[in-house]
Amino acid sequence: MPPVTRKEYAERENMKIAFIGLGNMGGGMAANLVKAGHAVNAFDLSEGALATAKDNGCTPFTDASEAVQDVDAVVSMLPNGGIVKSVYEGNVIGKAPAGAVLLDCSTIDVATAKEVIAQAEAAGYDMVDAPVSGGIAAANGGTLTFMVGGTEKAFARAEEVLQAMGKAVIHAGDAGAGQTAKICNNMLLAISMIGTAEAMKMAEKLGLDPQKFYEISSQSSGYCWSLNAYTPLPGVGVESPADKDYQSGFATGLMLKDLKLAMEAAETADASTPLGRHAKELYEQFAEDNAGLDFSAIIKSL
Ligand code: NAD
Repeated sequence: MPPVTRKEYAERENMKIAFIGLGNMGGGMAANLVKAGHAVNAFDLSEGALATAKDNGCTPFTDASEAVQDVDAVVSMLPNGGIVKSVYEGNVIGKAPAGAVLLDCSTIDVATAKEVIAQAEAAGYDMVDAPVSGGIAAANGGTLTFMVGGTEKAFARAEEVLQAMGKAVIHAGDAGAGQTAKICNNMLLAISMIGTAEAMKMAEKLGLDPQKFYEISSQSSGYCWSLNAYTPLPGVGVESPADKDYQSGFATGLMLKDLKLAMEAAETADASTPLGRHAKELYEQFAEDNAGLDFSAIIKSL
């Protein structure tokens, strides 16, 4: 069967959805739910974020517990695990209708994701962790990739909501599997970006034209996303944040956040991650003065 298009979903299911956390990512995601035909109740602590959500067709609420009443689904996009836990414990679980499906799209630690989902399930809800790959442009454009953890039933229900905000929705496994996929992916990305940057700078210092190095390595065994799709040197390879003075893209501060989550998780699983640990240290140093720059700017420190 061909995949169901976003328009078909909208026509099939016009849901009432509460959206909590309308910042850089959540603002655009909530707007896409409205565009897909859903009624969206918006809640955020920031008045500015709420005003923008209203302009985008959401109904603003000043109390999260009220925003989740009578909804079919609750979506959250919040800064960290502590906030996610307090919002779900205080304002969602026991406040949203029993049949609502709950989706946390924030990037948080695996342990908190599992804990909150267990609490929600004990109260009778279907809930998933559904962190995203893709930044603000993908959130605005509805082209995020969602990696989802939860039961088959919770996933099937969550998928209907997520389709309106993304280009791919993948069931990663049980509760917490979405967060696991996200931090392992981003740990790999950090390591590969540093490796790409090291190789490019070393080639340059040895007198090789960086563009020649790109041409050769991008078609050789050095092929990787960091080199081929996100070349970290300005004017070399494909167009990337490097060509905009590292002002757009995925912020170094957010990469560091994900590396810290990855190292916490590695410790709980007794996983050996020497390069992940070193990548975290390098990003920690670099973030001191450059947290707002795209993560590929780490090449400047080499
Ligand atoms: P942000 O800081 O722009 O937005 C977070 C929003 O949550 C803010 O508007 C804030 O006011 C609101 N908030 C904080 N506490 C709240 C509470 N108790 N109740 C209601 N609202 C509250 O952050 P963002 O960039 O949108 O990131 C959100 C999540 O998405 C994070 O977990 C981040 O790691 C993840 N993420 C971000 C990116 C990115 O490129 N920005 C990419 C992938 C994943």
